Amino acid sequence: MSEPAEKTVEDSAEPKVAEDSSDTQSACECDCTGGCGSEPILIEPDLKFKEDLIEYGGDTFNKCYQCATCSAACSLSTDVDPFPRKEMIWTMWGLKDRLISDPDIWACYYCGDCSTRCPRGANPGELMMALRRYAISRYDWTGISRLLYTSRIAEVGAIVVVAAIVVALFVISGAFTPERMLTDHVSVETFIPHQLVHYGDWVMAGILTFFLLTNSLRMCRFLLKGQKIPPSVFVSEAKTFIIHMATQKKWRECESKSTRWLKHFILVTGYVTMFTLVMFFLGYLQTDGSEFTWVSILGYYATAAILFFSADAMISRVKKKEEIHKFSHDSDWMFLILLFLTGLTGILMHAFRLLDLALPTYYIYVIHLAIAVPMLVVEVPFGKWAHLMYRPLALYLKAVKAKARDLEIA
Ligand code: SF4
Ligand code: SF4
Repeated sequence: MSEPAEKTVEDSAEPKVAEDSSDTQSACECDCTGGCGSEPILIEPDLKFKEDLIEYGGDTFNKCYQCATCSAACSLSTDVDPFPRKEMIWTMWGLKDRLISDPDIWACYYCGDCSTRCPRGANPGELMMALRRYAISRYDWTGISRLLYTSRIAEVGAIVVVAAIVVALFVISGAFTPERMLTDHVSVETFIPHQLVHYGDWVMAGILTFFLLTNSLRMCRFLLKGQKIPPSVFVSEAKTFIIHMATQKKWRECESKSTRWLKHFILVTGYVTMFTLVMFFLGYLQTDGSEFTWVSILGYYATAAILFFSADAMISRVKKKEEIHKFSHDSDWMFLILLFLTGLTGILMHAFRLLDLALPTYYIYVIHLAIAVPMLVVEVPFGKWAHLMYRPLALYLKAVKAKARDLEIA
């Protein structure tokens, strides 16, 4: 069978369909891109969007000739909500607003099955990843996310600035003075009282929560697009959000028998454990003695999970063996490097303290926080970590919309 010629929106998409207007809603509800026999709708493709998407890692979509192999290959794609082929088409057509409002970009866990099977090397899995980066930058009302995703200098600059603020706070607190830097034995509590660090933690957590929640509300607005849904449906479907946030269990349905779900799950439990310890039990972590406590066991578990699985992911990206690691956006590297260094400096500080090496303990503690804080400030509300919130939220809103639709039909 001869291969169909490659077509792109520039040479094939006339007449075009109007994007995301109330007219679009009334003329066609099925998102079929015109194949259902509904009245054709004029679109205004956003060609700038296609150029922009390249900066977010989506640069192969024009190779797609729409054979639909990818949707057939994806174990998570359904007849009702097929993907990723429709996202390929929408991207080629420049339907930016539809894509930002599409919960299916979050239903993809990037297992890579579709990219492996794509006969054109159009890399639909990476396109879905790029669309998620793009969507994150549009949910973020501050514009910071967009800047960080599209400029390496801005991303590195933001990390350096936050790290400098952390060091400055140590200086302002008077930590780097002879009275506070005891050298005859390690006393982290004298160097920087844990209560002071706690206050900083809570302020930072409050700011991050504010940005993450306000951005999530914007995401809800995009995905619900003013749809009227009974409040009881939001309550009855809340379990969907909790289950997906805690387990990401749909990932296990992907066809490739990869161990990635398990690795990701252990990594997430690692940094959730570490985050909980730092936020609520810092007094047990930041001790001056070397006695063994239950917090130490949790700390070792979290550190081991973070170090092992972030190193594993970096090695895989260097080797480019797995489909999903063949392409790495700058933000992927930045996240993994910061995560690994946070774990490494944390365990080094612990070792120096147990060895009673006073000055190395104090300096590595400052370095540890100068890495961990920028990682949290930059990655949680504006970067890669945001998917831990957005994916379960999208799946929840998808379930809410489906339930509301069922109620309407009934
Ligand atoms: S398998 Fe590849 S060429 Fe076929 S529709 Fe999917 S992305 Fe396009
Ligand atoms: S990467 Fe995996 S989950 Fe995502 S669309 Fe492709 S096959 Fe489906």
